[in-house]
Amino acid sequence: MSRLLEGKTALILGVANQWSLAYAIAQAFAREGAGLLLTYQGERQRQTVEGLAAELGARQVLPCDVTEDEELAQLAESLRAGRVDAVVHSIAFANREDLYKPFVETSRAGYALAQEVSAYSLVAVARAVAPVMTEAGSITALSYLGATRVVPNYNVMGVAKAALESAMRYLASELGPRGIRVNCISAGPVKTASARAIRDFSSILDHVAERAPLRRNTEPAEVADAAVFLASDLGRGVTGNVLFVDSGFQVMGF
Ligand code: NAP
Repeated sequence: MSRLLEGKTALILGVANQWSLAYAIAQAFAREGAGLLLTYQGERQRQTVEGLAAELGARQVLPCDVTEDEELAQLAESLRAGRVDAVVHSIAFANREDLYKPFVETSRAGYALAQEVSAYSLVAVARAVAPVMTEAGSITALSYLGATRVVPNYNVMGVAKAALESAMRYLASELGPRGIRVNCISAGPVKTASARAIRDFSSILDHVAERAPLRRNTEPAEVADAAVFLASDLGRGVTGNVLFVDSGFQVMGF
């Protein structure tokens, strides 16, 4: 049986460890036949990501701290000889002290940092990669319900996700005429390194499992399969969209 991403090359940003949503996505993309290019942020992560990349049979591992224009330019240069069909942006960061304070106390610097890493980076990555993207290319970013609803303790990251989703729509509009689709997956809460920075994260997991229509939490593999759909030709008519993979939690009023 033919695989959904056979013959496609995918650039995946945001694999930190085996719990990362990006890692589950990379596994699913490999299963479906995609050639993988992974990135890591800084030397600290290099060995771990190279180890995971070897396990996944990835073609290349490239450095990319999204706050460094030079690294983004180098990434673009390294990709210039080939072509990219799919990009997955699975990156976010906010200072723990900003997440732990009441939202009204968010510092100017902390607000700017969360926006830079978690939202502006989608624009910067799209600009760097679009020149080597094929027609029928796809860019997918990871978002969360906190973009549009108030989720306790999500605070400055919720505002960054709102910006990310808006940036996704503007990019979809501009890159659409070149055949490039841009979407977000809004994932239900999953215990990862980033999620642990949210105070009381376990109570969010418990609440979702109790109230979501499917009465359970989201599995990383479910997010990954939705990412396969968006990157594949099955998703060819979908752009500018936020696809919820959250056991249906987003439809609940209370
Ligand atoms: P994760 O494993 O910690 O992944 C976050 C990634 O962002 C890490 O690889 C991290 O690299 C990277 N990153 C941070 N700053 C960066 C920078 N300056 N340049 C390049 N990369 C940078 O956690 P995750 O939960 O899988 O998060 C992936 C995405 O899913 C994020 O956008 C997150 O907001 C979103 N999401 C998560 C959940 C959830 O509940 N887990 C739900 C919905 C959406 P380092 O580790 O090297 O810093």
